This record gives sequence, structure tokens and C-alpha cells, in this order.
Amino acid sequence: MTQSAIFGFNHRKAFCGVLIILLCGSALAAPPEPPNLCVSTKGNTVSLNWYPVESAAGYELYYAPYPDATPISSLDLGNTTIISEELPLGSAYFVALKSYNASGASNYSNVGQFILSATELPQIAFAFGDSMDSSESSKIQSDALQALEFFESQSFPRFQPTVTVHAYDDYEELLDAYIETFTPCVASSLGLIIRSSGLTLAEAEDGWGNGSTQGNAIGNDFFINSANFHWRTIFTEAFKAKVVAHELFHTLQYQLVEGPMFAGPNTEVPLAGPRWLLEGSGDVVGYMMLDWAGLSDFDSDLQSAIDSAARTEYLLENMENSPGMYSTEAPFQIAFIAAAFLSRDLSKFVSFFSLISDEVTWEEAFIQAFGKSVDAFYAEYKAYVNNGYQ
Ligand SMILES: [Zn+2]
Repeated sequence: MTQSAIFGFNHRKAFCGVLIILLCGSALAAPPEPPNLCVSTKGNTVSLNWYPVESAAGYELYYAPYPDATPISSLDLGNTTIISEELPLGSAYFVALKSYNASGASNYSNVGQFILSATELPQIAFAFGDSMDSSESSKIQSDALQALEFFESQSFPRFQPTVTVHAYDDYEELLDAYIETFTPCVASSLGLIIRSSGLTLAEAEDGWGNGSTQGNAIGNDFFINSANFHWRTIFTEAFKAKVVAHELFHTLQYQLVEGPMFAGPNTEVPLAGPRWLLEGSGDVVGYMMLDWAGLSDFDSDLQSAIDSAARTEYLLENMENSPGMYSTEAPFQIAFIAAAFLSRDLSKFVSFFSLISDEVTWEEAFIQAFGKSVDAFYAEYKAYVNNGYQ
């Protein structure tokens, strides 16, 4: 669809309301429920998604300029459940949907809004839980700003739209915020959460609830679980700063990859590249940031990871999907070692993610960014491991 088809003209659908009541007034069929609308932006592209509504024959989009909210225009979208449009920077709209069938139209969905800012917005915003200890929240804030400074020192692309760093030290509060951030996307469509994080909501909740997850980035938001046992008792201040930089790099990956990072369940290899590389590049960035900031030494951190991985047997090519990655004993250490072996030049990781699109697969992007096929790299890596990581 062209931009003018959706946002330029008033395509108010001509409902023959009276006729429908006369013909269908005694029918038992009811209009469908309204959809749950999820709005996301990436650069100057806005995407609207919703989960199919039972018994809906189609959907009507309602839109109005933000913040005036008038005039309201509408457009029949047929039975699609996803639209994506490039709009000029500066565009700002309220959007809502109704679903319809032969018995009529639903109420409005939730109202979404988006602003494609033409001016430079802050790259990072913060949202902290009410009960967060102030020294903990200011540490996370300064860690994120330090990571951002490192990103700028490496000439990484700016965050656009703004990334929000969330941190909570209470599971219940964290889960509420997590769900609120992704509602209605989460509530209506686990498919959307799968696409944006590779996790189902249940898996994400379990990760937070059982304490194994310290950080998690989804789209333009990332969450730090400072209630986590490891976070509270084991992690050093430097390691926490590494986690924050790692998560911040995930949000950059999301912004760099054109199109979704994930399209299916965790058993599939993400569209944005193998799991070991998504995670490993985040750790290379994180540990390089620590080295840059004088908080740790990259080569010693790498050696520690090698010491952990040396006790376990694995094949990197089996770590392209989540089950494969997390069935190894030291998944993050291995991912870090492999990504560090692949390249110490962070601009190559940035090019890799930037190259991936609907037209360019991660395998093709890998060749372009790193100058070799992933299979050739797997062979090199295997030799490196067999040679005692030398
Ligand atoms: Zn990660």
C-alpha cells in the first residue's frame, strides 16, 4: 500500500447501517470483538500488527493526526493483519482499528499513537521500578550512558527511535511493566513477542520468575531484573555494566536489521542470524566497553570464558537456535569466544546486522561483512577449539 492510500485520503467506508439492521436485525450472529492493535516504529517506518479476531471478515483502520485527533479518517484494510508504511519524518498519528463482519463492526480497539520525530530525540530513556534502590538505579543509568558513550566512540548508528532502559528489583513489578510495555502486543499475540524476542510470554515470564534471566531486550526496550539472585549477590559492578552494554547492543541489533529479527519459535534460527552470534557480538561489545572504560581487561575476560568453555564439548554450528545454544554448559562464554574469534572489529558486526533485510539473508550478510561463508568460519573455529583455543 502506498502512503497516500492510507494516510493521505479519507476513505471512510460506506456502511449501509440501516440496511444491515433491517436485514440482519434478527440474526444471531454478532459483530466481532475489536482487535488488539500493536504499533511499532523503526526509523521512518511504522508498522501496525494485530492478531486475527475470531469471526472477523476484515479490519478498518481509523487514523487522526496527533495530537489534535481530528479529523478522523478511515480505510478498509480487508483481512490483512499487518501493515507497514514508510512515512516522512515528522509524521504523527493516532491509530485504532475496528474489526467487522456481516453483522457489523466492533468497537474501537485500543488507540495507538506514533511520532516519527524529525528532531533528534534522546537516544536512551529510563523507567525504574518504584521500589528500586536509588544507588542501584543510578548505577544502571550511568552504565547505560557509559555504554552509549562507548557506542558513540565506535561510531555506531544513533538510536532512532529512543530506547528505553527498564529496571526493577521486584518480580511482580517487573512482570507488570514487562506486560504493560508489550500490551496489547503480548496479550493479543504471542506471535508478536516471538518475533520481537524469540521468546513466548510464558518463557519470558519463566525466565524472569525463576531468576535465570538478568536482562532481556525486546525491540526498543530492555529490561534489567535487579531482583535476580545473581544480580544481587554474585555479579561484580563491572559485570553488571557489561550486561547493560550487551542488552543495549541487542536493541541496536533490532534497529539495524531491516525487518523482524525473529519469525518463528525458538527452535528456528533467527532471521537476524544465529543465536551464538546475536549473543556473542553483544558480549564482545560489552567486554570491549569494559576494556575501553578501564574496568576490565578484554583478553583476561576472554581467557576466563575459554577456561569455562574448555571443559565442555560442543559444535558451534549446533548453537544457531536457542535449544542448541542453551543445551551447552557454557552458552554465553562459547558465544563470546566464537564472536571474538570471528572479529575484534566491531564495525563488522554493525555491518552484518545492517545488511540483513527481506532480500539479504544472514548467511549472505555474513559473507559480505566477514569475508567468508559461515561454513568456512565453522571449520576455522573447530580447528581453533581443537588446538586448545590457540
Ligand atoms: Zn543477550
